[in-house]
Amino acid sequence: MSDCLFCKIIGGEIPSSKVYEDELVFAFRDIAPMTPTHILVVPKAHLDSVDAVTPENSGVVAHIFEVIPRIAQAEGLVNGYRVVSNCGPDAGQTVKHLHFHILGGKPLATEMA
Ligand code: AMP
Ligand code: ZN
Repeated sequence: MSDCLFCKIIGGEIPSSKVYEDELVFAFRDIAPMTPTHILVVPKAHLDSVDAVTPENSGVVAHIFEVIPRIAQAEGLVNGYRVVSNCGPDAGQTVKHLHFHILGGKPLATEMA
């Protein structure tokens, strides 16, 4: 998608602080971290949100969930972390490219919403 912020980050058009990359996935530090460690994990192939996941493309989501614990371990999140994906306006999704937030580095709020 030519007009997508995260596609531009994946393509190197917009700089980011990359923490992980493979053929399917790109991960980088959130520009406005909400926790000491705040990383975004995104599929390289554009999908708008969780709503766009189908039996045909869900393999990349499984792969993302294999990569997330490896990133968490590399970041030293030994006491745990939270994985969040905001989908649509009620969830406050601001970037319409599927992404998973990894939040950690401190005890997190027990209320999720
Ligand atoms: P969401 O609100 O779930 O759509 O999350 C979008 C996230 O992208 C927010 O946490 C923003 O801080 C983050 N963000 C926006 N622009 C950038 C950028 N250029 N580099 C890194 N993170 C960004
Ligand atoms: Zn995109």
